[in-house]
Amino acid sequence: MKLKGDYHMHSKYSGDCKNEMEAVVKQAIEMGLSEIAITDHGPMHSGYGIKASQYPEMRAEIDALRQKYPQISILLGLEANLIGTAGEIDLTDTMQPLCDWLNVGYHFGSNLGRDMGLHIRNFLSKFSKRIYERAKKDNTMAMINAMRKHSIRMLTHPGAKGPVDIDAVARVAAETGTMLEINNSHGHLTVEEIKIAMQYDVVFVANSDAHRIERIGIVTDSIQRIVEAGLPTDRIYNLDDACV
Ligand SMILES: [Zn+2]
Ligand SMILES: [Zn+2]
Repeated sequence: MKLKGDYHMHSKYSGDCKNEMEAVVKQAIEMGLSEIAITDHGPMHSGYGIKASQYPEMRAEIDALRQKYPQISILLGLEANLIGTAGEIDLTDTMQPLCDWLNVGYHFGSNLGRDMGLHIRNFLSKFSKRIYERAKKDNTMAMINAMRKHSIRMLTHPGAKGPVDIDAVARVAAETGTMLEINNSHGHLTVEEIKIAMQYDVVFVANSDAHRIERIGIVTDSIQRIVEAGLPTDRIYNLDDACV
């Protein structure tokens, strides 16, 4: 199987990554990718998030790289944080027109000081069945509302960092045309989750979520789960059957 594009990776604008955007682009070309989205963390994550005020600078940097490397399509993305059960995300109104590709995912440490309920329940879900069920209900509601409210291309690693009802999420993903990620770095979607989600008319994406240059375009673990789940390649946005 050949990966055509990688739609989830980070650059130095994220607090947990040091990669220069140009180095990211060069590696993607080296890996034979025809398209990438650089999707740094949304601004409301206190540890990893970009500063919203930096987004125009990131846009300009991507535009310059597009001129310099016309052989690859480079998209300015965002991995926005899911920050509330009503489906709130941290893509601001000023950032929105600059963004080519919107990913949304749930992360601990986003929106600290405003809505801690979601984080506390996700943290405690390991210790209590009752809290686990409540966390699962809230995470699911947050994802469903976000998909209905915003034009999201893809949900990143659904089920990682907090439990979700994948059946309900996949149903709304199909309804809203939101793709679901089979993330190479986190274990989700798992084989079991893929099997549940593939019952609906959902498109899947396999991405590296690279924080280091050498991880860009690497989706070996994702492919293993895809094969194990029996998910046909034509249901995956960025994979084709061509031999490499
Ligand atoms: Zn993430
Ligand atoms: Zn990420």
